Amino acid sequence: MLRRRTFLGSSLAAPALAACATAPAPAVHQPLPHDPHSHARPGEARVTHVSLDLAADFDRKALSGTATLSIEARAGAREIVLDSDGLIVKSARTNLGDTTFEFGSRDEQLGQALTIAIGPGVTALTIAYETRPGAGALQWLEPAQTASGQRFLFSQGQAILTRTWIPTQDSPGIRQTYDARIVVPEGLKAVMSAEMLTPDGEAAEGGRAFRFRMDNPIPPYLIAIAIGDLVYRGVGPRTGVYAEPSVIERAAYECADMERMLRAAEAMYGRYRWGRYDVLVLPPSFPYGGMENPRLTFLTPTFLAGDRSLVSLIAHELAHSWSGNLVTNALWADSWLNEGFTSYIEGRIVEALYGGENAAMQFALAWADIQKAIAAGPPDDTRLHLTGERSADDGVSAIVYDKGALFLRTMERELGRTRLDAYLRSYFDRHAFQPMTTQWFLEDVRARVVRGGPALEASLQLDTWAYEPGLPSNAVEPRAEAFERVAAHAAGFNAGGPASAIPWASWGTFERQRFLQTLPRELQAARLAELESALGLNGTGNAEVLFDWLSLAIANRAEASMPAVTDFLTWQGRGKFVRPLYRALMEQGEWGQAHARRIYAMARQGYHPIVQTAVDGIVTAA
Ligand SMILES: [Zn+2]
Repeated sequence: MLRRRTFLGSSLAAPALAACATAPAPAVHQPLPHDPHSHARPGEARVTHVSLDLAADFDRKALSGTATLSIEARAGAREIVLDSDGLIVKSARTNLGDTTFEFGSRDEQLGQALTIAIGPGVTALTIAYETRPGAGALQWLEPAQTASGQRFLFSQGQAILTRTWIPTQDSPGIRQTYDARIVVPEGLKAVMSAEMLTPDGEAAEGGRAFRFRMDNPIPPYLIAIAIGDLVYRGVGPRTGVYAEPSVIERAAYECADMERMLRAAEAMYGRYRWGRYDVLVLPPSFPYGGMENPRLTFLTPTFLAGDRSLVSLIAHELAHSWSGNLVTNALWADSWLNEGFTSYIEGRIVEALYGGENAAMQFALAWADIQKAIAAGPPDDTRLHLTGERSADDGVSAIVYDKGALFLRTMERELGRTRLDAYLRSYFDRHAFQPMTTQWFLEDVRARVVRGGPALEASLQLDTWAYEPGLPSNAVEPRAEAFERVAAHAAGFNAGGPASAIPWASWGTFERQRFLQTLPRELQAARLAELESALGLNGTGNAEVLFDWLSLAIANRAEASMPAVTDFLTWQGRGKFVRPLYRALMEQGEWGQAHARRIYAMARQGYHPIVQTAVDGIVTAA
């Protein structure tokens, strides 16, 4: 399925493109379902390859240049429909000459259809364009927002933001190979979710040019770019880390186990198909924990705990190399196929490297999150396959991630690990580089595993898991023995025992989280202060533990923890931490609301637009 392509640095290379475009399209075993989050009509004409030639202008906050698209059209097709959102298109031409284009009306969520006229013999389109400063996928950081004091750009395409920087068909079922030439200011380096062809860059007008190539067809949300003062450190034969110079030592230390993780995943699910696995540690405004951009996972710096205690995040992103990047949800309503599978595989990698008890604790924490989501629910939000009109980002994480993973753990229990592993390995092989839907997955399980057996059909409860709210009757609460010891210590503390009796130093991240999460939400001020001084909670370097502690402190209006809350909310902008802490502050009446407004006034400019929008809705809606 791999397709070699001549690199096209210039939009004038139409003859080479025409030759390339005769290569077969990625095999799709069934017609693509209609994607309500894209304007594309791939049944008429579809993009198979994107070739970017762009320059980054930090003063204007714009990427500008050309995108040359290889296309395959049905006989008689008169036009191709692309997705776009805010792009300034200057011209469009085909391999045969100039052509016309028009924008459709703008939809708040989906942007605009960009329809380009084509005819017989058209195999390539070159679109000259630039992005707007507010492009949703692109975050342009000022020097003060980075560790190195240099400017920085990074993209976040998932779910439907790639259309804000590339005019293409932005639907996860429409896989595309890509290549790129990116010109950046002197002194900065560009990296992408692709093979790096020019590690040192090449002289170019206006700076240095970096070239990239991704020969595996990927969903367009995985096309990703970052530009900054970046250095690289290898940590294994296929693995390494990019980061700003002052962060690289800590980052490389934290990522030491990546090669072992890769081997553990390969042993279960088959060959890693992407060549290298590198990670990029981003400045603290990155709104997510990680983004599984192929060959180059983007990571939050909040996982740098100093003691490798948060590396399950890397296991998660690396697991996406199979679930998500190799076999991909065709529609965002099925994002559990990406995230639920990945959370399950993450647990298996954690188990392989750090032992079964660690994996069990992680699943037990997830179980608590599922219960919370079901209790908070509307029931419709607790289905794996989302129904009704939804935005592309509407999945509830405890459902798509944790309930999804629990589904696979239930399959493992019913089938046995050997049988499930063999099935999953063949699933990834047979559907490699293809889109997947819930319906196709269930058909596949029935054809390959159930094979008409009524007992297995009944015990798996496949349809109930996939389509019904809540949890099916065969869901079993995961048990972690370590958590029984944690519960005993929590009970001792709640009964008035001293905080010094808590064996904090011997606990890992999961036990510490469990302890803090299960304490009563209301504690006497003196008990809270005792806990803090015995365990050093305000100063913990582990962001997950700190988050659980600060949530408890805010619930108790603990003024002594407000410097730590202020610091945590201003140094990083990860949505998972930032949103709930502002929400918790706003729930604490005038006291908390004043703190929330004070902190947000300082912190807002450092957050990603996605997080700004979310927190705007929390802090101003008093
Ligand atoms: Zn994920």
